Amino acid sequence: MTLDLIVRGATLPDGRKNVDIAARDGRIVAIEPGIRAEAATVVDARGLLVSPPFVDCHFHMDATLSLGLPRLNRSGTLLEGIALWGELKPLLTHEAVAERALRYCDLAVSQGLLAVRSHVDVCDDRLVAVEALIDVRAKVRPYLDLQLVAFPQDGYFRSLNAARNLEWALDLGVDVVGGIPHFERTMAEGAASVTALCEIAAKRGLMVDLHCDESDDPLSRHVETLAFEATRLGLGARATGSHLTSMHSMDNYYVSKLLPLLAESGINVIANPLVNITLQGRHDAYPRRRGLTRIPELRAHGVPVALGQDCVMDPWYGLGGADMLDVAHMAVHAVPMTSREAMAWTFDAVTEIPARVMGLDGYGLEVGRNADMVVLQAADAIEAVRLRATRLAVMRRGRVVARTPAKTSELAIPGRPATLDPAAYAPP
Ligand SMILES: [Zn+2]
Repeated sequence: MTLDLIVRGATLPDGRKNVDIAARDGRIVAIEPGIRAEAATVVDARGLLVSPPFVDCHFHMDATLSLGLPRLNRSGTLLEGIALWGELKPLLTHEAVAERALRYCDLAVSQGLLAVRSHVDVCDDRLVAVEALIDVRAKVRPYLDLQLVAFPQDGYFRSLNAARNLEWALDLGVDVVGGIPHFERTMAEGAASVTALCEIAAKRGLMVDLHCDESDDPLSRHVETLAFEATRLGLGARATGSHLTSMHSMDNYYVSKLLPLLAESGINVIANPLVNITLQGRHDAYPRRRGLTRIPELRAHGVPVALGQDCVMDPWYGLGGADMLDVAHMAVHAVPMTSREAMAWTFDAVTEIPARVMGLDGYGLEVGRNADMVVLQAADAIEAVRLRATRLAVMRRGRVVARTPAKTSELAIPGRPATLDPAAYAPP
């Protein structure tokens, strides 16, 4: 039997050690120790972690890499970011949006990030970004799964033509229904937008993913409406609430009622720690609130929680680099979650869990699934988070699509080792 690829000597995220992974015709055909076969490509993992690819289930690809266009966000606040995006939107061209998105996907692949759910703003009557990202979705398909969400950034009701444009974007082939209820003019209009958007998703048989309660307002209640509509319309896991940062500030008694409602509805939650730790709590003096939803409590109630990146080098966030381990690392600190179980979970929250949120076919390190994987310069999942580990090799459908040399240092200290491998510091 001639194979396309064998990855030898892998440690898997579930802790299995020294296994080989064989692939043929784009699929995994065996995962076991000591596979005796030839392959066109052999990757030696040398006992390091081999995981399925990273998945970012909350991103804004229409804005990424636009940092400095048409000017920089001087204050670094959400409000200046929104104003800046409003200045940039009329200047967008199909070619420029597509080129920035393709450059971003190059970076993503180099970081082992092979699936992205991106919101795309539909509050532009030209739908320039929608058409550009639909083109990009087709171009990158051989190496990256791009799922698009029709996102009425300026409000489904609040922005003139947003409702019409959202339907047009879906007609053009955008995959998921989006929304931003906390940005509507009133709480009542926000709730009505959740109902309208969930009904569109139900009618069209699509998923729905709303920016929901992304504020520090303890009285914001849109996630409650989302859970209610997901139950009423039978959407269940096809519905997702992104951000839910107001849950951080809510009254504890109310949250004790809300958590079982969320669990019962079957909806998913996406937290975006890099961006929300910087954008939330900005009206506070001290003590200053953290900008994250209640991840440990949601998990304890059985609600699926994934972690997203949200922004990279755009009007809202000037940093970032398509590194989902940065996202996991921030979640550990910002929540905080430092038990061994919770730190290991953050790795699942940027791989397996968002893959389920997006409904990706054939994802995961199992026989019969897609031969998509990443070799990391780390001993295990927690070590990968600690080190924001180098992606030594990235494979898509059994083919190596990116390689990065291992990070090593040369020391010139008398009596000490000449070279240093950061991954060698793993606990025994
Ligand atoms: Zn977002």
